[in-house]
Amino acid sequence: MIEIKNLKKIYSDGKIETHVLRGITMSIKKGEFVAIMGKSGAGKSTLLYQMSLLDHPTSGSIVISGVDTERLDTNARSMFRLKKFGYVFQDYALLPELTAIENISLPLMMLGHSLKNAKEISRESIKQMGLSNRENSLPGELSGGEQQRISVARAIAHNPEILFADEPTASLDTHASQVVIDIFRELNKKGQTIVMITHELEYGKQADRIITLSDGEVVP
Ligand code: ADP
Repeated sequence: MIEIKNLKKIYSDGKIETHVLRGITMSIKKGEFVAIMGKSGAGKSTLLYQMSLLDHPTSGSIVISGVDTERLDTNARSMFRLKKFGYVFQDYALLPELTAIENISLPLMMLGHSLKNAKEISRESIKQMGLSNRENSLPGELSGGEQQRISVARAIAHNPEILFADEPTASLDTHASQVVIDIFRELNKKGQTIVMITHELEYGKQADRIITLSDGEVVP
């Protein structure tokens, strides 16, 4: 599903070049739950950003579901991302003025669903997270764990091919973290492909496979 070949990312401020990804080659199969681990600064977030098309690599190729993603123009790339990917971030990234259900409905409407249809899908997605009683709450009225479950509901509502999660448990206590990991495992059991960054082995080892990065390279 994801084929990455010799991926490099170099940041440059004009004077100093920082080689953050130094030639990453890896593949992730459909239906896999993969954890990307490594120390702070190893390049995990940078790799996830390139892989999930939020940024362009300096060189190398990323083929997703048979599509060479560097060949997509800006519009096609945005549509590809919106349709095929779901994102979960450490800080939940919910819009504070919108209710839980509105936060989930908005991207569905951007994909062309009517308000009514978007709400129906959102309601189902919230139900899957066990938060039906929180539909009309604002993010600020929810606990961190509940906010993260709403963000997972948003990420999966449109049935994405791949769920990308960048340190989804880093802001949560142990119990709320395990609830999120259990949800990921449950989604994965139903076929969801998941790529998750974590620096906590306790959660990484609950994935099917761990890919370890060190200094911008995959540890063999
Ligand atoms: P990790 O997620 O493993 O902690 P990151 O991918 O966030 O690592 O960062 C890897 C390295 O790349 C770090 O040394 C960081 O300082 C550097 N880096 C990240 N983004 C930029 C940027 N926009 N410009 C320059 N350096 C960056």
